[in-house]
Amino acid sequence: MVDRTAEVLVIGGGLAGAATAAHLARAGRSVVVLERDAEPTHKVCGEFLGRAACRELEGLGVDLESLGARWIEHCTLFSGDRSAQAPLPFRAAGLSRRTLDPALRDHAAWAGADIRLGVRSTAVRGGQVDLANGESLSANAIVIATGKHEVRGLTRRSVLKRKDAKIGIKEHLSLTPSAMADLGNSVELHFFEGGYAGLMPTGDGVANLSIAMDPAVWRARELTPATYRDWLQRYVPSLQDRLTGARSLFPKPLTVSAVPYGYRLWSAPDDEPSLWRVGEQAIVTPSLTGEGMSLALGSARCLGECLLAGRSQTEYRQSLRRHFNRQILAARSFEALLEGSMTRGGIMRLLAVLPSALGVAARLTRSA
Ligand SMILES: Cc1cc2nc3c(=O)[nH]c(=O)nc-3n(C[C@H](O)[C@H](O)[C@H](O)COP(=O)(O)OP(=O)(O)OC[C@H]3O[C@@H](n4cnc5c(N)ncnc54)[C@H](O)[C@@H]3O)c2cc1C
Repeated sequence: MVDRTAEVLVIGGGLAGAATAAHLARAGRSVVVLERDAEPTHKVCGEFLGRAACRELEGLGVDLESLGARWIEHCTLFSGDRSAQAPLPFRAAGLSRRTLDPALRDHAAWAGADIRLGVRSTAVRGGQVDLANGESLSANAIVIATGKHEVRGLTRRSVLKRKDAKIGIKEHLSLTPSAMADLGNSVELHFFEGGYAGLMPTGDGVANLSIAMDPAVWRARELTPATYRDWLQRYVPSLQDRLTGARSLFPKPLTVSAVPYGYRLWSAPDDEPSLWRVGEQAIVTPSLTGEGMSLALGSARCLGECLLAGRSQTEYRQSLRRHFNRQILAARSFEALLEGSMTRGGIMRLLAVLPSALGVAARLTRSA
């Protein structure tokens, strides 16, 4: 039996889904969120909250300080034996997604959204959402906010080249006291051939290690989630001291494959008129900028405005493009320069004499 439950049905209760629900519920719309995880979980994410993410969350009533966020003040780049550090030109924070996502869902629920945990959608077809328990739901608008996960019948038809798809891996570590003190209030990016690792404090004395890597390089080195950290410690000089004596706080690292970096909804084929994509279903930016969560929250605000004003999908896509295209193009260019070993060498030499250029790059790769 098909049950028409709400004006808007959101599939996925991560940051984009919960924020969309909060915006709509605050304006009095009836909105239901389906989140497949019954309990708060960790996610593959560097957990760096940039300026826009902090602002969007504060605007939605989330108090990062009281959730135990750690303020991040510096950015440090490492490549081979070179390093460059600069103060961040804005306020940033580190916070575990296992804390942040449920907090935002609570705010959406408080605003009036109906949040249903442990409910997985198995397919969407013709304005109807099928659930794993055999039921079906329908609504005037169906919002796809499933992040990296595709929904059956709605796989993003990628406009990307295969080289843009990367492997992501993340775990929380307990570093030695001296490694933690050296890390301080910095987000660190350690570059190596075929990828980079981000390391930063994420509250409660925990460090987040997250990697984005070319799958061909991963395979050629015969890496696995069980061996990759030993490999980093051995072959990435800047991580040796940081990772010596480090203890993982996860039973095993989280992984994700085929992350379609550079995906933009406004360049993709049209969806059915009742379907709306948000967060990583709409935009995927290179992880090294730490802007994925800002975009998830920013796209949710754009979508909320469009749905409330009764705008069309074309207008929504135009709004996303207007707000975020420049930043994605800058992030992709910056990533390409840092991925090439020759250009990376040039950038590291430039930053050694002009560290403030790092602040300029940080500004260019995010929205105003
Ligand atoms: C290696 C790596 C490092 C990163 N580092 C950073 C960083 O430091 N800073 C930053 O801002 N961004 C970072 N990002 C990006 C960031 O994690 C994403 O942009 C962000 O999580 C996107 O939010 P979202 O709400 O779109 O998706 P998600 O957070 O993935 O939420 C999707 C939700 O949908 C649910 N779901 C999925 N399928 C179903 C289904 N069928 N039915 C019901 N529910 C479903 C999931 O359980 C999940 O809760 C990183 C990404 C990677 C890969």
